[in-house]
Amino acid sequence: MNHLVVLGDQLTDQVGPLRALLDGTTAFAEPILVLEITSVRHEARHVQAVVLQIAALRAFAADLQERGFRTEVVQASTLGEALTAAQAQHKPIGITLMDPSQPQDLEVIQAWSAANGVPVEVVDNQLWLTSVAEWEAFKVGRKELRMEYWYRRVRSARGWLMEEHAGKSEPIGGTWNLDKENRKRLAPGTNVPAPLYGSVTPLVQSVIGEVLADRTRLFGDATALIWPTTRREALAALNAFCDERLANFGPYEDAMSKEHEHLFHSLLSPALNLGLLTPNEVCERALETYAARPSVIPLSSIEGFIRQILGWREFMRHAYREYWREWQTDNGLDAHEDLPELYWSGDTKMACMSRIVTTLQRTGHAHHIERLMVLGNFALLFGVQPQQVDSWFLEAFVDALPWVVTPNVVAMSQFADLGRITSKPYICGGAYISRMGDDCTSCFYKPTESVGETACPFTTMYWEFIDRHSERFAKNPRMATQVRSWAGRPENTRKEILVRAADVRSRAKAGEL
Ligand SMILES: Cc1cc2nc3c(=O)[nH]c(=O)nc-3n(C[C@H](O)[C@H](O)[C@H](O)COP(=O)(O)OP(=O)(O)OC[C@H]3O[C@@H](n4cnc5c(N)ncnc54)[C@H](O)[C@@H]3O)c2cc1C
Ligand code: SF4
Repeated sequence: MNHLVVLGDQLTDQVGPLRALLDGTTAFAEPILVLEITSVRHEARHVQAVVLQIAALRAFAADLQERGFRTEVVQASTLGEALTAAQAQHKPIGITLMDPSQPQDLEVIQAWSAANGVPVEVVDNQLWLTSVAEWEAFKVGRKELRMEYWYRRVRSARGWLMEEHAGKSEPIGGTWNLDKENRKRLAPGTNVPAPLYGSVTPLVQSVIGEVLADRTRLFGDATALIWPTTRREALAALNAFCDERLANFGPYEDAMSKEHEHLFHSLLSPALNLGLLTPNEVCERALETYAARPSVIPLSSIEGFIRQILGWREFMRHAYREYWREWQTDNGLDAHEDLPELYWSGDTKMACMSRIVTTLQRTGHAHHIERLMVLGNFALLFGVQPQQVDSWFLEAFVDALPWVVTPNVVAMSQFADLGRITSKPYICGGAYISRMGDDCTSCFYKPTESVGETACPFTTMYWEFIDRHSERFAKNPRMATQVRSWAGRPENTRKEILVRAADVRSRAKAGEL
């Protein structure tokens, strides 16, 4: 009989080989081997990402053991070494595991198997909602891979939020994507129910101590860890989200707020990325809530939420398998600046950046618009080398894993691949940030100004970016208007903005922005 090997982001007994074992439809040699890779403690990562990974994995193994399944945590520096340690101790005749999220890990496992003569059975990873076969079928005949078409296809295949209309299956409400309705600014006094956080159990506390004692390059603070480390806690957080916050998820999806940092977001990404929740059950729970309370949950909220998970999350996972090699070096916009120090310190007069980096240090989390339109946007406008931006996002977030960071950063946010999966760069000046949030009200800079001491660095750098890339983007139908608008400005104005942009650059490098 094979031994069952569980990787650190596959902490599930809901699907896959462990489900089959619990159901009695398959059997494995004892013990179940849960691999804890220790090198992560010495990488540039958020301290809470490391604590969460270790604590969740050990809690998962302890729970299996308590339920009568002999389980062992195998610690080693790397994946290959963990397999070798397991082999030395248990002499498996073969191992079974779920397909890793990282294709690179599969290569390591296959190379280890060949070198050590231990057969490996890789089974489908049902922690994903969609299969590789679905992706391959989607790709056929397409010149461009775009989330929207993927989403329509996989949503339609599942019949989610679909209705019969004149004998045809159509999206409820007649529209696939209600993104346009999801751009409300949070009015002062809006009631935002607090999310249900995870607890700092004695196990979590002891892991925090262990990780901090061993810390070399970890970013952030561990004192205020709020993330679920067990399935029970993650399920409670999912239920609380659906009952209390899903209704307003859609309208305020793009809003930013100093007072309510999490707004109506689910905060489920860390639990999803560890396997504590399956994306299928998250979507089904949200769909059930919508079905039970259609007058309370607007279509824009449930549609937006399903699109994030079935659409974006699954799309990014498949796109990573497709392009991860290219994204290691893509730099289509020829960006070579270093990331300014303020990304680590939060030490800047830019109120939005300072607030978000400080929140990141404390929680390891920022929501999507903060990641894309503030943190990513500024790096893009500044012309930071895209792989440096990728490394920083991998370092600064509690939910960061390469399969999700790299497509979101290198492709979506930095447009370094010139459009493998998106059609234009996501850029904005201070006006957008001011429209969607309240940071500008207390900022040293003014979002409407592009020249002078108090000009918002986003606004100035936005126009400098358009200037730098005007030739390339004049041909892009989604960017040509901005290029024309820049070209139509008086030469003097353009010169002044470029002078201020040079000033912004040198101040950022000197830590004086
Ligand atoms: C530059 C950049 C970096 C990002 N880095 C990460 C990361 O390290 N880890 C991570 O899980 N997500 C990342 N995302 C995607 C997204 O921002 C986060 O998943 C989301 O903010 C997590 O918070 P939440 O659980 O409250 O999400 P919600 O707003 O409640 O959304 C629900 C779920 O949808 C999924 N989702 C939404 N958008 C995306 C997306 N673009 N890609 C993948 N999944 C998505 C997540 O699982 C999320 O939990 C990044 C996005 C950008 C633009
Ligand atoms: S003025 Fe500019 S830097 Fe300041 S908070 Fe607004 S967008 Fe951010």
